Amino acid sequence: MQPHDKKRCAVCPRPGKACSRCGRSYYCSKECQKFDWPLHRTLCASFENFQQRPDSQKRRAIYFPVDSDKPKFVWLPMSGHHPSLGAIRETFFSGEQFWPVSIDENPLQRTELRHDILLQCHMHFRESLGMNQSIYSLSGKTCSYFKGPAIAYCSSSGIRSKSTGRVVRDYGDSEADPSEFDDSDSEEDKAEGSDEEDIEYGDDSDTEEFLEWNDADPTDLRAIMDYILVIHGNERLLGALIQGDAIIDNSTSTKRFSGLEIPPTNHGALCTLGPDSTVARLFGMPLTLMLRSEKDKPHESAASAEGANSIIGLLMLNLETKHSESFGEIPERFRAKTIGTVAVIRQDGLPIFSSYLEAFCAWIKDDLRPSFADTHQQCLAELELKKACTKDDKKVIEHKENIKELQGKMLDTITRARFYAWCKDKGFELKHL
Ligand SMILES: [Zn+2]
Ligand SMILES: [Zn+2]
Repeated sequence: MQPHDKKRCAVCPRPGKACSRCGRSYYCSKECQKFDWPLHRTLCASFENFQQRPDSQKRRAIYFPVDSDKPKFVWLPMSGHHPSLGAIRETFFSGEQFWPVSIDENPLQRTELRHDILLQCHMHFRESLGMNQSIYSLSGKTCSYFKGPAIAYCSSSGIRSKSTGRVVRDYGDSEADPSEFDDSDSEEDKAEGSDEEDIEYGDDSDTEEFLEWNDADPTDLRAIMDYILVIHGNERLLGALIQGDAIIDNSTSTKRFSGLEIPPTNHGALCTLGPDSTVARLFGMPLTLMLRSEKDKPHESAASAEGANSIIGLLMLNLETKHSESFGEIPERFRAKTIGTVAVIRQDGLPIFSSYLEAFCAWIKDDLRPSFADTHQQCLAELELKKACTKDDKKVIEHKENIKELQGKMLDTITRARFYAWCKDKGFELKHL
């Protein structure tokens, strides 16, 4: 899993620039920002009204009303150094009992979060409380699991010395001391300053773990919704089926791409299906393949009759930077005849339109791969030079750096902007999500 990077784009793994309005969500491009906007817009503008803490005890939290389409910021009541569960129950849950769902990673983007998120909520069995409209609406009308209201707030843990009280290790980019809030600008400086050199590795017996309660930001909404979509999306899934090569060769009337409907399933189980498409993940569209089990003999023979699947190979391009020799190539496994017809779904449970997927695959084949070709050759040349070096030759580092740079150049072309421009040029009509 990738460590948390504060300036990472909210949608894809690139570094980004802060949203000019709220300054809290980061985007690598206009295209990614546009993609995130339906979610982000629900909190972005109101953020400015929630900068001034009413008193040092409060924390900013995200509230999901049961009967409105939008979440909103609220101030979380604290009691001493911890959230006051009694006050939360009275204020937000009309005195009803609630349960925590703990979110500590983004299962979709495979990244650590800047802090842990607790989503306090009712669940599926509290039918009488009514479906949570805001979560249902934010999930693209796919998640009806949550009943009644819900509230999300954040914490991070660190390790401090029992004797001196000095923080040994601080996780997240939270305020160093929750009791000092008057100078909100210095928060950033402290976070930037908490570098490796501040870490003291002392005697274990003198240290203790402590918990800090942090403010929720607009950017936390993306993590909460990605988690909900993966774990609790429970409507039918709309995926796509990509036919094997042999079927297409034998019959011109068979469509290569078609829609696929999967009945209500546990999406938590689906996300282990893999493998994921790295090129799609870099694009910010988490695609995963549903492959037949290798032990499944009857299916395997069906797969050989369907032939290889050259389209799946495009989605499975090797973009792992440590494999420099085969970087940008289709892995051997996906050239095999045993692949056949393959189903593709989105891990977040959002629908795939087969026409969109068709355009995406065509773009990889006709635009991305040819653009890789030259750079790939240069990469191989650098690799040869590196191999020819003796062990202590300083040039080895130089060649390594060159390879990294060339790979980065290839990865930089996988953007929504380039895809949309290509589609426009080729006359592809895209059905947007
Ligand atoms: Zn991005
Ligand atoms: Zn914003």
